[in-house]
Amino acid sequence: MKPIAIVGAMQQELAGLKQALQNPHTVKLGSRQVTSGTWHGQPVVLALSHIGKVAAATTATALIERFDVTALVFTGVAGGLGPGVNVGDMVVATEFLQHDMDASPLFPIYEVPMYGRAHFPTDVRLTQSLQAAAQDILKNPAQWIDMEVMRELHVYAPKVHAGMVVSGDRFVSTTVESQDLQQRQPRALAVEMEGAAVAQVCLDYGVPFAAVRTISDRADDSATIDFSRFIHEVASRYTLALLGTWLSKR
Ligand code: SAH
Repeated sequence: MKPIAIVGAMQQELAGLKQALQNPHTVKLGSRQVTSGTWHGQPVVLALSHIGKVAAATTATALIERFDVTALVFTGVAGGLGPGVNVGDMVVATEFLQHDMDASPLFPIYEVPMYGRAHFPTDVRLTQSLQAAAQDILKNPAQWIDMEVMRELHVYAPKVHAGMVVSGDRFVSTTVESQDLQQRQPRALAVEMEGAAVAQVCLDYGVPFAAVRTISDRADDSATIDFSRFIHEVASRYTLALLGTWLSKR
């Protein structure tokens, strides 16, 4: 059976997943470490992409070329953009766009040259199954996260959203920039730094791709407050619960 690739940008996000793998075996691919093993009886390869579009694209390419993965799921945190997309919510991406792509006037702004498109869709079936698993997890978040921690980190009644996510090589952490992004991309629910690059690589190779992000901040002036603590105590736990639930039902 071909493995499913699970990729995340930050070490803290993937730590729990690594521990869940059975018969783990780690190899080096360039400067990346890739761990293969099984989880809920399914072959899985787990990789840390590091941050940004280039790092994410090279990781995805290496995984596809070297491990012949059957699907790729990206997990991590993101800044909430859309109204009502709050810290502690989960966003399942239905499509991606690079908000910093601009080859105008040669090509329309945001269009990736030679692809004839700005929007890169995710795989519908994979996305729906991840969305269902996310809804399961958030029905009872207290099962996974301490209520006190939720209160301290301002997580109230977390929800699941599905829609467009935008990516770019910027950590968006000012209200001015976040508002500008919302005006330019009114449908965008969240902003992060990797997804659109991975979506492009997966389109190139015909590999089904899906992505789910936990909202760690609102991409505004308070975006850096408790960022690490949030990943450690909320996002990484959600991810573990979500992907475990999802894989056990596949
Ligand atoms: N302070 C962190 C930097 C993390 S960069 C450190 O020192 O390690 C942010 C990471 O989280 C990226 O992988 C990105 O995909 C995601 N992310 C979360 N919130 C974001 C935001 N507001 N803007 C852009 N990326 C964000």
